[in-house]
Amino acid sequence: MIKFLDLQKINNQYRDELVQAATRVIDSGWFLLGEELTQFEEDYAKYCGTKYALGVANGLDALRLIFKAYIEMGLMSRGDEVIVPANTYIASILAVTDNGLLPVLVEPRLDSYNLDASLIEVAITSKTRAVLTVHLYGQNSIDDQMLEICQKHNLFLVEDNAQAQGGVWKGKLTGGIGDAAGHSFYPGKNLGALGDAGAVTTNDKELYQTVKALRNYGSHKKYENIYQGLNSRLDEIQAAFLNVKLKYLPKEIEKRREIAEQYLKGITNPLVVLPLVPDPQQHVWHLFVIRNNNRLKLQQILLESGVQTLIHYPIPPHKQGAYSNFNENHYPITEQIHREVLSLPMSPVLTDKEVQEVIQLINKFKG
Ligand SMILES: *Cc1c(COP(=O)(O)O)cnc(C)c1O
Repeated sequence: MIKFLDLQKINNQYRDELVQAATRVIDSGWFLLGEELTQFEEDYAKYCGTKYALGVANGLDALRLIFKAYIEMGLMSRGDEVIVPANTYIASILAVTDNGLLPVLVEPRLDSYNLDASLIEVAITSKTRAVLTVHLYGQNSIDDQMLEICQKHNLFLVEDNAQAQGGVWKGKLTGGIGDAAGHSFYPGKNLGALGDAGAVTTNDKELYQTVKALRNYGSHKKYENIYQGLNSRLDEIQAAFLNVKLKYLPKEIEKRREIAEQYLKGITNPLVVLPLVPDPQQHVWHLFVIRNNNRLKLQQILLESGVQTLIHYPIPPHKQGAYSNFNENHYPITEQIHREVLSLPMSPVLTDKEVQEVIQLINKFKG
């Protein structure tokens, strides 16, 4: 069986170091907001090229806390609008609505699956305060046009960098291009903890200080609460695991890029649409997503030959029960993407032989 993602194998590469890290935390008797977290925040900010990084409980909270902080800072208020790609994972949108802000869904480009910057301006109203752009599948989604529009209309540019740690655009890393970014270290993400974890990065000192209080009951000083905060801290034990895994992230991204290159070169079946990659540095291949108009059959054939695939994502947010107010809306590109996408096995522990096997099976597919 070629697994979609073999987390056991991935973490087993670092088993000794992970055990040491866990032991260090257990023996320290200190489990929250300690040295492991401080170390991780320093190293992760350095990695992203930002002044600040703050560990939080998960990726959804990272995004929730950014918007909550902007509200506490008086820069946004309930009822304000945030532009979000219609084809994102639902977490991006939950972070907006959880704060009483209104998501304005905008279509992605069919070639990159990322927010179509040319459609942003028509969606802007007097209530628009931010663009929440998502580096979907691991590919940077920011371009000059998006930055110019945000500047011209005085909008915050917030990055959902749950899937793209390590992507580079014009010498900057994703998570360090916009005003603030939310990151996820969910076990299956490119930098995966051994449980839930996330981070906020920014160069904005006031935002940093506000999120820092908000993640800890709205408090800078014990028992003094200046905001109605959350409990959203990154555990010492997860920070310790991330301190181990962050060191290996660049190597793992390189491996993902090698595998993607093999897929891109090897898959020649005209029935399959490959991802478009204008600049290899901008993609860290969290997912390798192909399109086919009979993807369930392709998925079934692959599975029968021992290849696991997944669909990211089968139902778009505007068709979910959670957002019944959007159910009647129509986003044809988003809907096409959700009908046709299929994610092939992708991880730094896939072997060349496994990759070639997947390629051959796909090339044999007759539709
Ligand atoms: C994973 C993910 C999130 C949420 O991260 P969690 O750590 O699972 O809360 C948000 N946005 C996108 C695009 C994601 O892929």
